[in-house]
Amino acid sequence: MGDRNSRRICELVKQSGNSDCADCGFQNPEWSSFNIGVFLCTTCATWHRRLGTHVSKVKSLKLDKWDDEQVEQMEAVGNLQAKQHYEQHIPACYRIPHAGDPPVLLEQWIRAKYERQEFIQVDKQTYIRNSLEGTLMKKAKDENKYFPRKFVISDNSLKYYSKENSKEPKTTIQLSELNVCLAPAKMNQDNGMQLSYMCDGSTRHIYVYHESGEIIIQWYMAIRSIKLNWLMVAYPSVAAEELVPYLTNDFVIEGWLSKTGPNERDAYRKRWFILDDRKLMYHEGPLDSYPRGEIFLGYKDDNYSIKEGVPRGCKDHDFSFSLITPERTYVMSAPTSDERSRWMNAISTVMERSLRPQDNQSKLALSVNKKSARNSRHSWFSFPSL
Ligand SMILES: [Zn+2]
Repeated sequence: MGDRNSRRICELVKQSGNSDCADCGFQNPEWSSFNIGVFLCTTCATWHRRLGTHVSKVKSLKLDKWDDEQVEQMEAVGNLQAKQHYEQHIPACYRIPHAGDPPVLLEQWIRAKYERQEFIQVDKQTYIRNSLEGTLMKKAKDENKYFPRKFVISDNSLKYYSKENSKEPKTTIQLSELNVCLAPAKMNQDNGMQLSYMCDGSTRHIYVYHESGEIIIQWYMAIRSIKLNWLMVAYPSVAAEELVPYLTNDFVIEGWLSKTGPNERDAYRKRWFILDDRKLMYHEGPLDSYPRGEIFLGYKDDNYSIKEGVPRGCKDHDFSFSLITPERTYVMSAPTSDERSRWMNAISTVMERSLRPQDNQSKLALSVNKKSARNSRHSWFSFPSL
């Protein structure tokens, strides 16, 4: 009897829609929520268990015993039908997570779907709005301490205030110039978020978090939602789905590398590198406010290339590589051979892509930066003319 039900479940999970996790798309699910009727990967099953059994009852496909009624529920629903029900109204700005995305994004997606049922009852989507105000913990500029600061989104800009009762904002950032990404690992905060924007011709980073994952995701999605509204007004003939890729972008890769100075005899110094689209930034530490330098990565046919090793006459180092741009050759070294391959692959992938209109704008921003012009209005994140 039990064996027969186990076989039914094993057959069911092979069916189309069931062979990928209902929540993150990871292949070959080994778990399920049998009251909801979905097949899940191990990670999503863990988040389901935290919802409590009044929302989701988790069961292993192979390790647990299945009774007739539970198998029938799985047969009656399954991933495709559950998706139709729980994902009825996902707003275009909502970032649906995939396996490997930041945990808070996945957790809040699962809570939004099943616990709060936000995609069934649209009025629960608290990020669909034109303004938002609240307190976030913000990292101080020069020390690793966080202080509560008032943040306000209104009129297509994000402002923050240094004191609760300040009348004038400390900083005003146009949303069109702002990129946000979740940065839990390097901030060592589950709900950590990094805001990056251009300020006086240089990139500026701000690090914030909130104790509540729901609230940090509300800020993240609200920024995406308001940016999308603005883009839809600015580009009325373009479909919302085509504008979505321009709302926020994750960094391609980041981590420690060592880098020499512009002279042959310069020593290698450890720097925190971030590759953000075509912009390679290096910092003294992972949570710095400003990069020490920013390198624009152009198209390979315009004299941009990367290769293993160092130029003749230059001090060599383990796992070294050279990044050649028309202006300068940058000599770097990675901590391991694998790390070097990851960086070289990431950088050459960018250089193999020809420039888009907004990439030229990025280059302009960087050359403006080099001439140390003030109050540049050029932006890495401004939208291309379509
Ligand atoms: Zn999953």
